[in-house]
Amino acid sequence: MERVETKIKEYGHMDDNNSQVGYSFEREKNNMDNADNIDKKKVELVIIGGGSAGLAAAVSAYENGCRDILIMERDQELGGILLQCIHNGFGLHMFGEELSGPAYAEKWIRMLQETSITYKVNTMVTHLYADRTVEYVNQEEGYVQIQATAVVLAMGCRERTRGAIAIPGYRPSGVWTAGTAQRYLNMEGYMVGKRVFILGSGDIGMIMARRMTLEGAKVLGVAEVMPYSNGLPRNRKQCLEDFDIPLFLSHTVVDIQGKDRMTGLTIAQVDDKMQPISGTEQTFDADTLLLSVGLIPENGLSEEAEIQLHPRTRGAIVNECLETSVEGIFACGNVLHVHDLVDFVSNEGKKAGLYASRYIQGKLNQGETFRVDAGDGIGYVMPQKVLMDVPEDKIEFMFRVRNNCKNSTLQILGDGKVLKTIKKPHMAPAEMEKVTLKKEELMGIREQLLIKVCDPSINE
Ligand SMILES: Cc1cc2nc3c(=O)[nH]c(=O)nc-3n(C[C@H](O)[C@H](O)[C@H](O)COP(=O)(O)OP(=O)(O)OC[C@H]3O[C@@H](n4cnc5c(N)ncnc54)[C@H](O)[C@@H]3O)c2cc1C
Repeated sequence: MERVETKIKEYGHMDDNNSQVGYSFEREKNNMDNADNIDKKKVELVIIGGGSAGLAAAVSAYENGCRDILIMERDQELGGILLQCIHNGFGLHMFGEELSGPAYAEKWIRMLQETSITYKVNTMVTHLYADRTVEYVNQEEGYVQIQATAVVLAMGCRERTRGAIAIPGYRPSGVWTAGTAQRYLNMEGYMVGKRVFILGSGDIGMIMARRMTLEGAKVLGVAEVMPYSNGLPRNRKQCLEDFDIPLFLSHTVVDIQGKDRMTGLTIAQVDDKMQPISGTEQTFDADTLLLSVGLIPENGLSEEAEIQLHPRTRGAIVNECLETSVEGIFACGNVLHVHDLVDFVSNEGKKAGLYASRYIQGKLNQGETFRVDAGDGIGYVMPQKVLMDVPEDKIEFMFRVRNNCKNSTLQILGDGKVLKTIKKPHMAPAEMEKVTLKKEELMGIREQLLIKVCDPSINE
């Protein structure tokens, strides 16, 4: 009870009628009073995850007329991964300014506080079923089951670990995922090592190379198994080149030394089949290895609800309304596909909130769909389905290419007929691409929309 009252002091405020809005005390109290009630409580919109996707979905659903909204967040505060990203680079598209992660989150939390949206922190959703029954647990209420009219999945993603990439050697301390080290350093105030090596040149790896350097560690290098860097070009420039941190392309870690604490590691060059080349080994006396080797959408709950997942994105298969294969369940943000820019996550969250509120109001367009496929040179396209009637004026497709491409051409085909060709001077797997097609361009497609790079042979 003490916790609830504290939250009201922190977040609640009075509206014109002198009622408490923002954090809903009434709902919280009713939930506790009814803890033993065997009937499921009903909530119109449940949002699982209070990161940038969940926050944007909630604000947008509210703006579109939904009033009974509940966000559930397992962490102790709203904001998600943004809270540990204290570097700049967030919000350029959304707010026209470069903010830190916490400052970007705060803007959305303030918008939320101006509404009557309810949220629960320290609350873990443990089960989700296809009939939109949601089960959660927290310290105040214990175990609770609720019935949602619609659900938005916004659970983000998790990092691949050492086990997933099978690095040989002992299991000494000093091996961390980069995101965990980032949380320890930026939020908990712990320095995880002094002589650091990083495996993976994605954005998180490069950002952590700079961060550890700024905190006084010596970053000995970053190894990347691919022949190109896997993060945004600006991060390669600002995080590695500006700090003279060497980047070893086509290299991987082949051994970790040390029994209790890591004492060193060995890297080696890899061939075009990504196998280490004997004789190319280099050893570093590092006490810490940070792994930035990929993110995986957090879809345990989606699987339980029997939502169809895409083999490439490992997120839900959705239509242009971001509705999954299970009616009334929508997905957005990193749980749907891994994003590099938070602005795109917030936009997707806004869409999910809009369509979920339309679903609740009985106004969501439904019907037969055609499929959207990734052709030559394309890794995936999202959404993967479009309603044949094409009720929206335009639809934005997001996709990633498989390899770096220079001066190439994108081709978009509807049922085998070329609809559009677009010249692209530069595309890279690390950078999400977008193409917007108008209703007129999509009308009449019955089977398949295909996006491909029509000259992938000139990829470099
Ligand atoms: C290290 C890092 C650096 C980045 N740097 C930049 C940058 O410089 N610029 C930029 O624009 N973008 C950057 N991004 C990208 C962008 O910030 C993220 O893609 C975006 O914030 C993800 O938002 P999300 O809501 O999808 O996921 P998250 O922020 O991960 O939020 C998901 C939330 O769901 C909660 N959750 C999960 N499961 C449950 C459950 N079962 N019950 C309750 N709650 C649950 C989690 O606790 C979490 O708070 C960065 C991302 C990372 C990881």
